[in-house]
Amino acid sequence: MWQHLINAAGEEQALFDREIQAWIGSYTRGGGTIFCGKGCGNCCTLAVNCTFPEALRIARSLTTLQAERVRDHTARLMARMHGVADLKSYLRMHRQEIGCCPFLDDGGICGIYGERPFSCRALISTRENRWCGLDFSTLSLEEKRDFVESLDREVVTFPLHYVAETQNRGQALETGMAEEMIKRFGFSLYGDLPYLVHLEREHQLSRIIPQGYEVTLSFLDQNGLLKPFLVIPDR
Ligand code: SF4
Ligand code: SF4
Repeated sequence: MWQHLINAAGEEQALFDREIQAWIGSYTRGGGTIFCGKGCGNCCTLAVNCTFPEALRIARSLTTLQAERVRDHTARLMARMHGVADLKSYLRMHRQEIGCCPFLDDGGICGIYGERPFSCRALISTRENRWCGLDFSTLSLEEKRDFVESLDREVVTFPLHYVAETQNRGQALETGMAEEMIKRFGFSLYGDLPYLVHLEREHQLSRIIPQGYEVTLSFLDQNGLLKPFLVIPDR
């Protein structure tokens, strides 16, 4: 039942990588610079979202150590979710208190590189990686102005420094994946990457979802797992 969606996610991710490489090639030939590279993981402190089939693909490929890290990461996250009232506070809390993605290994390399979701693939930086790890609220007005004025507005998701075209394409691929899920089950699930992986590893959510929207929501609710910002059902 799920294998088709898992395979589709893998095929589309591979195709997306080729599209991104082609885009980068064209941009750099035109004189632009892209700063992403191996071992460059400042962006891995951001809250990363994905569709459930992408998380399921990852959940099935984890090592024991990675699974332990997901458990620890989720426990830290859950302990800090109380009192988080809005998305802005959630994102700030995530960046300042949760730490990096549990799949980032000790050498600063993504440990699930081949399976990483669309959202990670789509994040391509036109600035040095220190800008990816920065809390912009800590900058002075002058620093903010200099940064904003330095951006290539035709290319980035202004006022940030990430490439707009790859972000838009990544979001379209996520939407396509959600639509495939809706066709099969009547609804889709989207949310925090480690949390969705946790829901599969510890609660076998992929066995509940085929029973429908109400049953899934009730299962999550009764087990205290229906957390705002972390799991987002849609139909
Ligand atoms: S988005 Fe930023 S931190 Fe992430 S790989 Fe690219 S340059 Fe490095
Ligand atoms: S999945 Fe990989 S690339 Fe994405 S945030 Fe985690 S470590 Fe970084």
